[in-house]
Amino acid sequence: MAVKQTPMIEQYLSIKAQYEDAFLFFRLGDFYELFFDDAKKAAKELEITLTSRGKGEEGIPMCGVPHHSAEQYITQLIKRGYKVAICEQTEDPSQAKGVVRREVVQVITPGTVMNGNIVADKDNNYLISITPYENGLFGIAAVEMTTGEFLVTSITGELEDVLFEVSSFRPREIVLPEFFPQEGQALFQQRLGVTLSHESELASEEASESLVGEIEDRCAKEACRRLIRYLHRTTKRSLDHIQKAVFYLPHEYMGIDVHSKRNLELIESLREKKKQGSLLWILDETQTAMGGRLLKQWIERPLVSKSVIEQRHGFVETLLDQFFARETLREQLHGVYDLERLSGKVAFGNVNAREMLQLKRSLQAVPEIFETVKNMNNGYGTTLLENIDDCHELCELLADSIVDDPPVSITEGNLIRDGYHPELDQYRDAMRNGKTWIASLEQKERQETGIKSLKIGFNKVFGYYIEVTRANIAHLPEGRYERKQTLANAERYITEELKEKEVLILEAEEKSEKLEYELFMEIREKVKKFIRPLQQLASAISTIDVLQSFAEVAEQYHYVKPNVAIGGNVHIVDGRHPVVERMIDEGDYVANDIILDDKNSMLLITGPNMAGKSTYMRQLALISIMAQIGSFVPAKEAELPIFDQIFTRIGAADDLAQGQSTFMVEMLETKHAVTRATKNSLLLLDEIGRGTSTYDGMALAQSIVEFIHNEIGAKTLFSTHYHELTILADQLPLLKNVHVSAMEENGKVVFLHKVVDGAADRSYGIYVAELAELPEELISRAKTILKDFEQGDQLANKGSNVNYVEEASIKEEVRQMTLFGEEFISSDEKKLSNKEKAVIEKLQSLNLLHITPIEAITLLDELQRKVTKK
Ligand code: ADP
Ligand code: MG
Repeated sequence: MAVKQTPMIEQYLSIKAQYEDAFLFFRLGDFYELFFDDAKKAAKELEITLTSRGKGEEGIPMCGVPHHSAEQYITQLIKRGYKVAICEQTEDPSQAKGVVRREVVQVITPGTVMNGNIVADKDNNYLISITPYENGLFGIAAVEMTTGEFLVTSITGELEDVLFEVSSFRPREIVLPEFFPQEGQALFQQRLGVTLSHESELASEEASESLVGEIEDRCAKEACRRLIRYLHRTTKRSLDHIQKAVFYLPHEYMGIDVHSKRNLELIESLREKKKQGSLLWILDETQTAMGGRLLKQWIERPLVSKSVIEQRHGFVETLLDQFFARETLREQLHGVYDLERLSGKVAFGNVNAREMLQLKRSLQAVPEIFETVKNMNNGYGTTLLENIDDCHELCELLADSIVDDPPVSITEGNLIRDGYHPELDQYRDAMRNGKTWIASLEQKERQETGIKSLKIGFNKVFGYYIEVTRANIAHLPEGRYERKQTLANAERYITEELKEKEVLILEAEEKSEKLEYELFMEIREKVKKFIRPLQQLASAISTIDVLQSFAEVAEQYHYVKPNVAIGGNVHIVDGRHPVVERMIDEGDYVANDIILDDKNSMLLITGPNMAGKSTYMRQLALISIMAQIGSFVPAKEAELPIFDQIFTRIGAADDLAQGQSTFMVEMLETKHAVTRATKNSLLLLDEIGRGTSTYDGMALAQSIVEFIHNEIGAKTLFSTHYHELTILADQLPLLKNVHVSAMEENGKVVFLHKVVDGAADRSYGIYVAELAELPEELISRAKTILKDFEQGDQLANKGSNVNYVEEASIKEEVRQMTLFGEEFISSDEKKLSNKEKAVIEKLQSLNLLHITPIEAITLLDELQRKVTKK
């Protein structure tokens, strides 16, 4: 296409070529314009009008947003996972020869955005980079731009394992080298819904030395350098607030994959994706945004180190005991603003005087917080504050320099206190003196002319002037003033003297504004020197904040301190589900014990729908996670092992409501769980096998139970609607049957939510259907069918009616064949003859697609003869 473009469009195209994957916001005067495909796409996304530049068919598609309101549009695009390259005019258009020079000054991406409208106060926003190395080794680096946190690790494994590790950060964006395997790129995009970015180069050794100099792992280091290079290329500014990269080993934390986190509703509820209804919601009594974020991180990564867990428990206990001190502490914490993000803003250069003031106020609260914590006399509490600089020098600097109510703008003065800088004081004196002189001139002129309404005013065009109303002009002595401007009912004048003063005042004003800006920049540079100590201080304060939050929650909801032991047993007395108990009326929650030890490490849980099986299972997971992040737990007593990993898997049918789970996913997740779990893991398998046909599902469920029992030995809760599985307890010594009891009362089922030993005795499916108020006719028909089944009638007899009844509950009662070896157990203990079994097997193995009608008839005859009583 040899269309000759204007020089400006050519400039546009050459810049755009470097930012293919971003919307290019091209500054044209007061607007950012978008052209070509960018324009078409943006017009749709932002619902703005698409126009065209130039005429006719060759017109270039174009749309634009005013630069002063651009932020809201950028926010929308970033939130949807897009990137935006901001291209500014970098020379004064009036000085430019030819096309004004333009440059991209920043690329805003979902993972590098610093804007508070996009990243909520209590949210983290991780940007990840992954570098594949030889032999299945991967380096993973994660940076949090708003707080400067920088973590790195390396792992050996498959793409699924990388996904597992990366998902715990809930990243918004992942940076990969171009050569990263395509399937991996697709996997991240699909499973994590992230924005993918490419960065093929690494930051130079020199440029990354200060951040990654201490990282020894080569693979991890490479991931860091890729990330740093990407940050340089996109943010194009100082990264002073990025902290030194910290190397961690994945097994320093309890492993919980995304599915389990989602399923356990740790951070948000499953259905509404809201904080309400999640574990985070229950535990969050933090007073600061930093504390809120740290709490979230803790929940995402529970500890496995017994000593650190116990230190946290110990401090929570102290905080719980010292009610008044804790109340004081909470109030003091309340006064602390977001030190981490303020430091980030200082480094990034977009901090204003009001934020400096927030910094000052926060620092003023610090000595009191230190005092309160030290007085609590808790060893761990005291160590938290050891070697932490309270930054009082910075606090003094800010107190001395910044006024109490500065404007948002940092270029219009009124930021700096009197007495901070002598030159500024001089200018201000000049301004004040000048203004006093003018006020007294006004007095003097009124007296001398006798015109009471005479006044001195100021406007930007004419400067200072003396104004006399038309009616009074006659009283003015001829030649007293020089005429300047005529209005409808007044004349404006100046005098030599007034002009002279005006020059002095305006000069002083201009100089002081300029000086204030310079001083402000100087102060900002000084604050930059405090970024490290500020970050350390922030970390100590947020830790204290989270722990006081635990104490607060423990007190309100009567949690107890758990005892944790490596390789220990689960011994929970009167445990509760922390979220469910808060969702129902107080006192209605039925507490349950959970005991898992060397003799019985697996529970097979049966019971009707809605009885509380899932709740019981999740209760254990949540209590364990709470214990391992340092919180107290909802129980009367709790002894717990330290779990290395927790896996929860839900039968696909349960998840179908969300329209996102298929049987394949269920199986993939299960594979992941059974191949990764160890003896020290906790496995929760909730109605696994539901997503496929009965026998298929049952067979799988059984073999999964056996596999865990024989090969893994992990502590396991397995709930099932396959009643037939309860017999497994006889064969597998570590497996024990429990059931959630329900009571039948006047033909209605009453859930007791109490977990008791033994297998449940029957299915309550129909009663649940009754509770759900299905048509009476339908219910009574179901009851008849069920009775038939229980009396040994076969499905085949009632074929056409089968669909009436909830499939699963029928299947539970239809016990046609054994999955457990020779013995077949049915409700009436009737045994099938070998002949009958053979018939069933034959029927099952038939492939109806490969059989002719004649063959079918012959076979039918043969089968019938086998089972016809002579
Ligand atoms: P299931 O998995 O057996 O079908 P759920 O665990 O989903 O049953 O529980 C169904 C509902 O019963 C829960 O939403 C909750 O309202 C209630 N429930 C469960 N366990 C208890 C309990 N221990 N105490 C009080 N209510 C409970
Ligand atoms: Mg359930």
